[in-house]
Amino acid sequence: MASAGDARAVGSLRAMTIRPIRTYGDPVLKLRCPEVTEIDAGLLTLVLDMFDTMYDAPGVGLAANQVGVQKRIFVYDIGDGPEVVINPVLSAHDGEWTYEEGCLSVPELYWPIARSKQVHLTGIDIKGKELSLDGDELLARVFLHEVDHLDGTVLVERLDPEHKKDALRTLRNRSLDAEAH
Ligand SMILES: [Zn+2]
Repeated sequence: MASAGDARAVGSLRAMTIRPIRTYGDPVLKLRCPEVTEIDAGLLTLVLDMFDTMYDAPGVGLAANQVGVQKRIFVYDIGDGPEVVINPVLSAHDGEWTYEEGCLSVPELYWPIARSKQVHLTGIDIKGKELSLDGDELLARVFLHEVDHLDGTVLVERLDPEHKKDALRTLRNRSLDAEAH
């Protein structure tokens, strides 16, 4: 996609910028991100920083609020190169697929989560061009996971009750450990 190539070309002329990734419990992850109304230089910088941050982590997807920015935008790369979707909208959910899923905001933890196997995603790219994408399995998973983030939902909320209880206990112990240090 043109936007991704552009982003990489500009990226090569600038220093890497890794933005801190917000972790579970940060209120910014619980808010719905409003639609992007203007594609400007600031947004391009944000996208480039999000690519740097995602690759550094490393991850296959990153939503803007994971770096503390309340904008409806996410980046991803499942091995086919960097892509960006602005104002994503999901539709046409089909099938079910369970996969060991993790999140950069809940580091080093993975759970089996059932989600739609196929989805359709519309949105716009960094040039304002309309996107219409079909996702299957991992790509569908990334779309669902990142749009969840933009709606203020972290994957912990998608766990079945048993896994969720374990997850919340682990995360609580983790934050207690962090406070003790
Ligand atoms: Zn995530």
